[in-house]
Amino acid sequence: LRANFSVIQKETGFVNGLITVLHDVTEQEKIEMERREFVANVSHELRTPLTTMRSYLEALSDGAWQDKDIAPNFLNVAQNETERMIRLVNDLLQLSKMDSKDYKLSKEWVDFVVFFNRIIDRFELTKEQTVDFERKLPDKPILMEIDPDKLTQVIDNVISNALKYSPEGGKVTFRIKEQEDQIIVSITDQGVGIPKGNVNKIFGRFYRVDKARSRKLGGTGLGLAIAKEMVEAHDGHIWARSIEGKGTTIFFSLPYEKYEDEGDDWN
Ligand code: ADP
Repeated sequence: LRANFSVIQKETGFVNGLITVLHDVTEQEKIEMERREFVANVSHELRTPLTTMRSYLEALSDGAWQDKDIAPNFLNVAQNETERMIRLVNDLLQLSKMDSKDYKLSKEWVDFVVFFNRIIDRFELTKEQTVDFERKLPDKPILMEIDPDKLTQVIDNVISNALKYSPEGGKVTFRIKEQEDQIIVSITDQGVGIPKGNVNKIFGRFYRVDKARSRKLGGTGLGLAIAKEMVEAHDGHIWARSIEGKGTTIFFSLPYEKYEDEGDDWN
Protein backbone atom coordinates (compact mmCIF):
# COMPACT_ATOMS: atom_id res chain seq x y z
CA LEU A 1 0.00 0.00 0.00
CA ARG A 2 1.30 3.47 -0.88
CA ALA A 3 -0.13 6.73 0.51
CA ASN A 4 -0.04 10.15 -1.12
CA PHE A 5 -0.82 13.16 1.06
CA SER A 6 -1.93 16.54 -0.19
CA VAL A 7 -2.35 19.46 2.12
CA ILE A 8 -5.13 21.87 1.37
CA GLN A 9 -3.94 25.23 2.56
CA LYS A 10 -5.58 28.60 2.39
CA GLU A 11 -3.62 31.72 1.43
CA THR A 12 -3.71 32.75 5.07
CA GLY A 13 -1.64 29.72 5.79
CA PHE A 14 -4.26 27.81 7.71
CA VAL A 15 -4.44 24.22 6.86
CA ASN A 16 -8.06 23.30 6.41
CA GLY A 17 -7.87 19.92 4.89
CA LEU A 18 -5.79 16.90 4.17
CA ILE A 19 -6.38 14.51 1.31
CA THR A 20 -5.01 11.06 1.57
CA VAL A 21 -4.94 8.87 -1.51
CA LEU A 22 -4.16 5.27 -0.89
CA HIS A 23 -2.94 3.28 -3.87
CA ASP A 24 -3.15 -0.42 -3.77
CA VAL A 25 0.20 -1.05 -5.39
CA THR A 26 -0.23 -4.78 -5.52
CA GLU A 27 -3.51 -4.38 -7.43
CA GLN A 28 -1.87 -1.98 -9.89
CA GLU A 29 1.09 -4.27 -10.30
CA LYS A 30 -1.23 -7.17 -10.90
CA ILE A 31 -3.07 -5.31 -13.66
CA GLU A 32 0.23 -4.30 -15.24
CA MET A 33 1.48 -7.88 -15.07
CA GLU A 34 -1.71 -9.16 -16.66
CA ARG A 35 -1.42 -6.60 -19.42
CA ARG A 36 2.16 -7.64 -20.19
CA GLU A 37 1.18 -11.28 -20.13
CA PHE A 38 -1.72 -10.55 -22.48
CA VAL A 39 0.52 -8.77 -25.00
CA ALA A 40 3.01 -11.64 -24.83
CA ASN A 41 0.20 -14.12 -25.42
CA VAL A 42 -1.19 -12.21 -28.39
CA SER A 43 2.26 -11.98 -29.95
CA HIS A 44 2.89 -15.64 -29.44
CA GLU A 45 -0.53 -16.64 -30.79
CA LEU A 46 0.10 -14.61 -33.94
CA ARG A 47 3.68 -15.74 -34.38
CA THR A 48 2.78 -19.42 -34.37
CA PRO A 49 0.55 -19.38 -37.48
CA LEU A 50 2.85 -16.89 -39.18
CA THR A 51 5.97 -19.04 -38.80
CA THR A 52 4.02 -22.11 -39.94
CA MET A 53 2.87 -20.22 -43.02
CA ARG A 54 6.36 -18.95 -43.70
CA SER A 55 7.83 -22.41 -43.80
CA TYR A 56 5.08 -23.80 -46.01
CA LEU A 57 5.30 -20.87 -48.40
CA GLU A 58 9.10 -21.22 -48.48
CA ALA A 59 8.77 -24.88 -49.38
CA LEU A 60 6.28 -24.01 -52.12
CA SER A 61 8.51 -21.37 -53.66
CA ASP A 62 11.51 -23.73 -53.38
CA GLY A 63 9.79 -26.03 -55.85
CA ALA A 64 6.98 -27.79 -54.02
CA TRP A 65 4.49 -25.77 -56.09
CA GLN A 66 5.31 -28.04 -59.02
CA ASP A 67 4.38 -31.17 -57.12
CA LYS A 68 0.71 -31.86 -57.75
CA ASP A 69 0.41 -34.04 -54.65
CA ILE A 70 2.10 -31.77 -52.17
CA ALA A 71 1.18 -28.27 -53.36
CA PRO A 72 -2.59 -28.36 -52.65
CA ASN A 73 -1.85 -29.72 -49.20
CA PHE A 74 0.62 -26.96 -48.37
CA LEU A 75 -1.72 -24.28 -49.69
CA ASN A 76 -4.43 -25.74 -47.55
CA VAL A 77 -2.28 -25.41 -44.44
CA ALA A 78 -1.50 -21.79 -45.29
CA GLN A 79 -5.19 -21.13 -45.82
CA ASN A 80 -6.20 -22.71 -42.50
CA GLU A 81 -3.58 -20.74 -40.62
CA THR A 82 -4.81 -17.55 -42.25
CA GLU A 83 -8.37 -18.35 -41.23
CA ARG A 84 -7.28 -18.94 -37.67
CA MET A 85 -5.40 -15.65 -37.56
CA ILE A 86 -8.48 -13.83 -38.85
CA ARG A 87 -10.57 -15.49 -36.14
CA LEU A 88 -8.02 -14.55 -33.53
CA VAL A 89 -7.89 -10.90 -34.60
CA ASN A 90 -11.70 -10.74 -34.73
CA ASP A 91 -11.89 -12.21 -31.23
CA LEU A 92 -9.31 -9.72 -29.98
CA LEU A 93 -11.19 -6.81 -31.50
CA GLN A 94 -14.37 -8.00 -29.89
CA LEU A 95 -12.74 -8.32 -26.46
CA SER A 96 -11.17 -4.91 -26.75
CA LYS A 97 -14.56 -3.45 -27.67
CA MET A 98 -16.09 -5.06 -24.62
CA ASP A 99 -13.22 -3.91 -22.39
CA SER A 100 -13.62 -0.31 -23.47
CA LYS A 101 -17.39 -0.60 -22.98
CA ASP A 102 -17.61 0.74 -26.50
CA TYR A 103 -20.74 -1.20 -27.37
CA LYS A 104 -24.40 -1.36 -26.60
CA LEU A 105 -26.55 -4.42 -26.18
CA SER A 106 -29.40 -4.45 -28.69
CA LYS A 107 -32.01 -6.08 -26.58
CA GLU A 108 -35.17 -7.68 -27.86
CA TRP A 109 -37.96 -9.64 -26.25
CA VAL A 110 -37.67 -13.31 -27.14
CA ASP A 111 -39.00 -16.61 -25.94
CA PHE A 112 -35.73 -17.99 -24.62
CA VAL A 113 -36.84 -21.59 -25.12
CA VAL A 114 -37.54 -21.04 -28.83
CA PHE A 115 -34.31 -19.06 -29.16
CA PHE A 116 -32.23 -21.84 -27.53
CA ASN A 117 -33.99 -24.57 -29.55
CA ARG A 118 -33.16 -22.81 -32.83
CA ILE A 119 -29.46 -22.70 -32.02
CA ILE A 120 -29.46 -26.37 -30.99
CA ASP A 121 -31.31 -27.24 -34.24
CA ARG A 122 -28.62 -25.53 -36.28
CA PHE A 123 -25.89 -27.59 -34.59
CA GLU A 124 -27.93 -30.76 -34.87
CA LEU A 125 -28.23 -30.27 -38.64
CA THR A 126 -24.58 -29.45 -39.25
CA LYS A 127 -22.65 -31.54 -36.72
CA GLU A 128 -20.19 -33.95 -38.23
CA GLN A 129 -19.78 -36.39 -35.35
CA THR A 130 -22.23 -38.95 -34.08
CA VAL A 131 -23.18 -37.17 -30.90
CA ASP A 132 -26.66 -37.42 -29.42
CA PHE A 133 -28.48 -34.29 -28.40
CA GLU A 134 -30.85 -34.37 -25.46
CA ARG A 135 -33.04 -31.38 -24.65
CA LYS A 136 -34.45 -30.95 -21.18
CA LEU A 137 -36.23 -27.68 -21.70
CA PRO A 138 -39.38 -26.21 -20.19
CA ASP A 139 -42.48 -26.74 -22.31
CA LYS A 140 -43.70 -23.22 -21.76
CA PRO A 141 -42.36 -19.92 -23.01
CA ILE A 142 -39.76 -17.97 -21.07
CA LEU A 143 -40.03 -14.38 -22.16
CA MET A 144 -36.86 -12.39 -21.69
CA GLU A 145 -35.23 -9.23 -22.97
CA ILE A 146 -31.79 -10.16 -24.30
CA ASP A 147 -29.32 -9.30 -27.02
CA PRO A 148 -29.93 -12.31 -29.29
CA ASP A 149 -26.72 -11.88 -31.32
CA LYS A 150 -24.49 -11.74 -28.27
CA LEU A 151 -26.14 -14.68 -26.52
CA THR A 152 -26.09 -16.67 -29.77
CA GLN A 153 -22.35 -16.20 -29.75
CA VAL A 154 -22.13 -17.38 -26.13
CA ILE A 155 -24.17 -20.51 -26.83
CA ASP A 156 -22.32 -21.17 -30.11
CA ASN A 157 -19.00 -21.11 -28.28
CA VAL A 158 -20.17 -23.43 -25.54
CA ILE A 159 -21.80 -25.94 -27.91
CA SER A 160 -18.78 -25.92 -30.25
CA ASN A 161 -16.57 -26.77 -27.28
CA ALA A 162 -18.94 -29.50 -26.11
CA LEU A 163 -18.73 -31.06 -29.58
CA LYS A 164 -15.00 -30.49 -29.94
CA TYR A 165 -14.21 -32.30 -26.72
CA SER A 166 -16.90 -35.02 -27.03
CA PRO A 167 -16.11 -38.62 -27.94
CA GLU A 168 -17.87 -40.31 -30.86
CA GLY A 169 -21.24 -41.54 -29.67
CA GLY A 170 -21.27 -39.17 -26.70
CA LYS A 171 -24.28 -37.24 -25.54
CA VAL A 172 -24.75 -33.50 -25.13
CA THR A 173 -27.56 -32.42 -22.82
CA PHE A 174 -29.20 -29.01 -22.94
CA ARG A 175 -31.12 -27.67 -19.95
CA ILE A 176 -32.92 -24.55 -18.86
CA LYS A 177 -33.89 -24.25 -15.21
CA GLU A 178 -36.26 -21.56 -14.13
CA GLN A 179 -35.70 -20.09 -10.69
CA GLU A 180 -37.24 -17.30 -8.70
CA ASP A 181 -35.35 -14.41 -10.31
CA GLN A 182 -33.10 -16.06 -12.87
CA ILE A 183 -32.82 -18.83 -15.38
CA ILE A 184 -29.88 -21.22 -15.49
CA VAL A 185 -28.88 -22.57 -18.86
CA SER A 186 -26.53 -25.53 -18.97
CA ILE A 187 -24.80 -27.62 -21.61
CA THR A 188 -23.33 -30.93 -20.50
CA ASP A 189 -21.00 -33.17 -22.47
CA GLN A 190 -19.40 -36.55 -21.84
CA GLY A 191 -16.04 -35.44 -23.14
CA VAL A 192 -12.47 -35.33 -21.89
CA GLY A 193 -13.27 -33.02 -18.99
CA ILE A 194 -10.97 -30.52 -17.32
CA PRO A 195 -8.41 -31.30 -14.62
CA LYS A 196 -9.48 -30.34 -11.13
CA GLY A 197 -8.18 -26.93 -10.15
CA ASN A 198 -8.24 -25.67 -13.73
CA VAL A 199 -11.97 -25.55 -14.10
CA ASN A 200 -12.35 -21.86 -13.31
CA LYS A 201 -9.37 -20.87 -15.43
CA ILE A 202 -11.08 -21.79 -18.70
CA PHE A 203 -12.82 -18.40 -18.78
CA GLY A 204 -9.45 -16.63 -18.76
CA ARG A 205 -7.99 -15.18 -21.93
CA PHE A 206 -5.84 -17.65 -23.86
CA TYR A 207 -6.15 -20.30 -21.20
CA ARG A 208 -6.32 -23.80 -22.66
CA VAL A 209 -5.84 -27.10 -20.92
CA ASP A 210 -4.06 -28.47 -23.97
CA LYS A 211 -2.69 -25.71 -26.17
CA ALA A 212 -1.60 -27.94 -29.04
CA ARG A 213 -4.92 -29.73 -29.13
CA SER A 214 -6.94 -26.52 -29.01
CA ARG A 215 -4.90 -25.06 -31.89
CA LYS A 216 -5.33 -28.22 -33.91
CA LEU A 217 -9.07 -27.93 -33.42
CA GLY A 218 -8.91 -24.34 -34.62
CA GLY A 219 -9.38 -22.74 -31.20
CA THR A 220 -8.14 -19.32 -30.23
CA GLY A 221 -8.43 -19.73 -26.45
CA LEU A 222 -10.67 -16.66 -26.35
CA GLY A 223 -14.12 -18.17 -26.91
CA LEU A 224 -15.06 -18.59 -23.26
CA ALA A 225 -13.44 -15.29 -22.26
CA ILE A 226 -15.75 -13.57 -24.76
CA ALA A 227 -18.70 -15.62 -23.53
CA LYS A 228 -17.99 -14.46 -19.97
CA GLU A 229 -17.94 -10.79 -21.00
CA MET A 230 -21.21 -11.18 -22.87
CA VAL A 231 -23.02 -13.01 -20.09
CA GLU A 232 -21.80 -10.44 -17.56
CA ALA A 233 -23.01 -7.64 -19.83
CA HIS A 234 -26.45 -9.22 -19.32
CA ASP A 235 -25.88 -9.15 -15.53
CA GLY A 236 -25.50 -12.91 -15.50
CA HIS A 237 -22.74 -15.31 -14.44
CA ILE A 238 -20.97 -18.16 -16.18
CA TRP A 239 -19.23 -21.11 -14.54
CA ALA A 240 -18.26 -24.72 -15.10
CA ARG A 241 -18.24 -28.07 -13.42
CA SER A 242 -16.14 -30.87 -14.75
CA ILE A 243 -14.78 -34.28 -13.94
CA GLU A 244 -11.67 -35.24 -15.86
CA GLY A 245 -12.39 -38.11 -18.17
CA LYS A 246 -16.12 -37.94 -17.52
CA GLY A 247 -17.39 -34.67 -18.92
CA THR A 248 -18.06 -31.01 -18.48
CA THR A 249 -21.05 -28.79 -17.81
CA ILE A 250 -21.00 -25.11 -18.61
CA PHE A 251 -23.69 -23.11 -16.80
CA PHE A 252 -24.79 -19.56 -17.25
CA SER A 253 -27.44 -17.57 -15.45
CA LEU A 254 -29.50 -14.67 -16.71
CA PRO A 255 -31.73 -12.45 -14.59
CA TYR A 256 -35.37 -13.21 -15.21
CA GLU A 257 -38.50 -11.60 -13.92
CA LYS A 258 -41.13 -14.21 -13.76
CA TYR A 259 -44.38 -12.94 -15.14
CA GLU A 260 -47.03 -13.94 -12.65
CA ASP A 261 -50.19 -14.76 -14.50
CA GLU A 262 -52.91 -13.65 -12.15
CA GLY A 263 -55.61 -15.21 -14.26
CA ASP A 264 -59.09 -13.92 -13.71
CA ASP A 265 -58.55 -13.02 -10.06
CA TRP A 266 -59.05 -9.31 -10.59
CA ASN A 267 -62.08 -9.74 -12.70
P1 ADP B 1 -10.62 -22.76 -27.35
O1 ADP B 1 -10.57 -21.90 -28.55
O2 ADP B 1 -9.29 -23.35 -26.99
O3 ADP B 1 -11.73 -23.77 -27.40
P2 ADP B 1 -12.15 -21.56 -25.19
O4 ADP B 1 -11.99 -20.25 -24.51
O5 ADP B 1 -13.44 -21.82 -25.88
O6 ADP B 1 -10.93 -21.71 -26.17
O7 ADP B 1 -11.90 -22.71 -24.11
C1 ADP B 1 -10.75 -22.65 -23.30
C2 ADP B 1 -10.28 -24.04 -22.91
O8 ADP B 1 -11.21 -24.63 -22.00
C3 ADP B 1 -10.18 -25.04 -24.05
O9 ADP B 1 -8.95 -24.94 -24.72
C4 ADP B 1 -10.30 -26.36 -23.32
O10 ADP B 1 -9.06 -26.73 -22.75
C5 ADP B 1 -11.24 -26.04 -22.17
N1 ADP B 1 -12.63 -26.44 -22.47
C6 ADP B 1 -13.65 -25.62 -22.83
N2 ADP B 1 -14.80 -26.31 -23.00
C7 ADP B 1 -14.51 -27.60 -22.72
C8 ADP B 1 -15.28 -28.82 -22.71
N3 ADP B 1 -16.57 -28.82 -23.02
N4 ADP B 1 -14.62 -29.96 -22.36
C9 ADP B 1 -13.31 -29.95 -22.06
N5 ADP B 1 -12.54 -28.85 -22.05
C10 ADP B 1 -13.12 -27.69 -22.38
